[in-house]
Amino acid sequence: MTGPRTADLPTPASALAVVAHPDDAEFQCGATLAKWARAGCVVHHLVLTDGSKGTWDPTVDQSDLVERRKAEQREAATLLGGTGVVFLGHVDGELESDRLTRARVCAVIRRLRPAVVLGHDPWKRYRLHPDHAAAGRLVVDGIVAARDPFFHPEQLVDGVTVHRPDALLLFEADEANHAETLGEEDLAAQLAALEAHESQMETTHFYRAGDGDPLEEFRRRQRERLAGTGEWAGAPLAQAYHLIVDQL
Ligand SMILES: [Zn+2]
Repeated sequence: MTGPRTADLPTPASALAVVAHPDDAEFQCGATLAKWARAGCVVHHLVLTDGSKGTWDPTVDQSDLVERRKAEQREAATLLGGTGVVFLGHVDGELESDRLTRARVCAVIRRLRPAVVLGHDPWKRYRLHPDHAAAGRLVVDGIVAARDPFFHPEQLVDGVTVHRPDALLLFEADEANHAETLGEEDLAAQLAALEAHESQMETTHFYRAGDGDPLEEFRRRQRERLAGTGEWAGAPLAQAYHLIVDQL
């Protein structure tokens, strides 16, 4: 297995993680965001859906679940050193890269002006969840729209101008080419942020847990994942991405 082509971007001044659901950023890039935030990066999260299908309990009040997941997401973002969370509130499971949603993603990028954007890889093969594919398409299309004045020109008022990030990092990468190497403190922050999503313990965190203590097993699996990527990157711990800079 060949290693990454590049590793460790210079700490960006600002970053925006664009994800389908509450908890996706924590799973896919939480430790990376924590590392950057500690070094002074201003981190925002953009969560596209309301997470209203994130339960196995058919009797749950979905509006209660949505509010609970918002609070969990804010807490998780804070634990990663983040500054704020923007919720678009699309119905969980029904996200589409349509013109209106692209415009809303574009508007957030133009307002927050991130140096680095992180998102789901829309070209990931054999992925089942449609929201993750749509969210990946939306981050790519949102970036393309944000940089040119004839896309959604009605947004360019009150000091809002076009914006072109320096880098796009796609997680769940179909072909990873870049690693962010991480330390124990970054892993600890990711675990704390994941564990803030208490409503997801049963359906996601402890899914297919073995016979041992499910929380310990969850922590072990998270560490193994970062350690496995670290082996690829020649570091104790790392997260993998497909880095795009040359088309931005
Ligand atoms: Zn998700």
